Amino acid sequence: MAAPRAELASTAALRDTMSAYYRGLGEAVEKKTAPVAWCTSVGPAELLRALGFVVHFPENHAAMLGAGRTANRYLPVAHAQGYSQDICSYLTSDIGAYLSGESPLSAFGLHGVPRADVLVFNTNQCRDVRDWFEWYGRQWNVPVIGINSPRSVGEVTEAEIGDVTRQLEALVPILERVAGTRLDSARLTTAMSAARDASALWERCLTTATHRPSPFTFFDGTIHMGPAVVLRGAPEAATYYGTLLAELEERTRTGVQAVPGESLRLYWDGMPVWGRLRALSTTFAEFRTAVVASTYCNSWIFSTLDPADPWRSMARSSVELFIARSDEPKERYIERMVKLYDVDGIVFHDCRTCPNNTNSRYGMPRRLSERLGIPTLMLDGDVNDLRCFSDEQAKTNIEGFVEQLADGRAAAGRAAR
Ligand code: SF4
Repeated sequence: MAAPRAELASTAALRDTMSAYYRGLGEAVEKKTAPVAWCTSVGPAELLRALGFVVHFPENHAAMLGAGRTANRYLPVAHAQGYSQDICSYLTSDIGAYLSGESPLSAFGLHGVPRADVLVFNTNQCRDVRDWFEWYGRQWNVPVIGINSPRSVGEVTEAEIGDVTRQLEALVPILERVAGTRLDSARLTTAMSAARDASALWERCLTTATHRPSPFTFFDGTIHMGPAVVLRGAPEAATYYGTLLAELEERTRTGVQAVPGESLRLYWDGMPVWGRLRALSTTFAEFRTAVVASTYCNSWIFSTLDPADPWRSMARSSVELFIARSDEPKERYIERMVKLYDVDGIVFHDCRTCPNNTNSRYGMPRRLSERLGIPTLMLDGDVNDLRCFSDEQAKTNIEGFVEQLADGRAAAGRAAR
């Protein structure tokens, strides 16, 4: 049996930061002190903050439903409304929870999700977010606006950036009308600077996992990325990541291991299985295997955001996002990460209801395995629908994979002798 994992002390500050965000949202709704915008997780949050909106991120809400393992209660409610079992289970669990009159936000004093004055999507990640927002837009009779982004982008072109820039600028008059104020360019610069600072610190937190043994895992990252998602463009995110970074750097100095006795290192591609984070984290740790990096946590690094060039840099960070790219740039990206984090293998999560963030269905694992000379594992599951995930199957597959990696390493050692 492996030694127990050391908990991060920063988790207390994380809880405070997230709790203050949810309470602030609730207070603004209750006292009507600010207009409410909904935003997709990689939508134009900086612009909304600059206009004085409080911002709700439904994907964060859906992830709470998944992590709290209540999502499966709500899925059938949305299916009964004609939303298929095969589409995004974030969407179906969130709409189902709304129709059931329940939300984990009630723990922070909110009466369910905050009613939006405007819903702002970006389809750079998928079409589902637009359908999701349009459902609420019809419920509340409020505007649903957004960016229709290019998908499957190869090399990012100036034409694509120009197109998204124009779409971003076209949102402004509608948002100004809803907010009842004019966009102040100084406030936009401030929000952009806050987003860039937090992103840079978040990136530094993640790259502490290049250290061997790693002080941080993908499973830690899925929890600690909360401020990077919901506080993008607000100063609190950078404050939190300063705290987390200090702890992680201290861990690398003093040799605290996220996975005691770390022997193997893996990369995770695809969505988390929110309802099984702890179980998966424990299983990997039992095999002394650290999942040290992921496409998912890295997707909230926006290094091209530039306060001096807000519109085009927002557009660029939207177009060049991993999930919006074609297989070739995605493979180049994963190859870089495999080398940077020095991993022994890659886990591809085949997420049943999210083909948009599943990269295992068109031959990528085999291509990468052949090119990089490392094995890959496909795990069947889902982001929120736990009917698609089997604990036994996952454990058996992980065990087999770890044995394969260990055998490969032993053979390499013998060959080297
Ligand atoms: S990327 Fe996947 S999980 Fe996220 S909203 Fe779109 S379909 Fe749902």
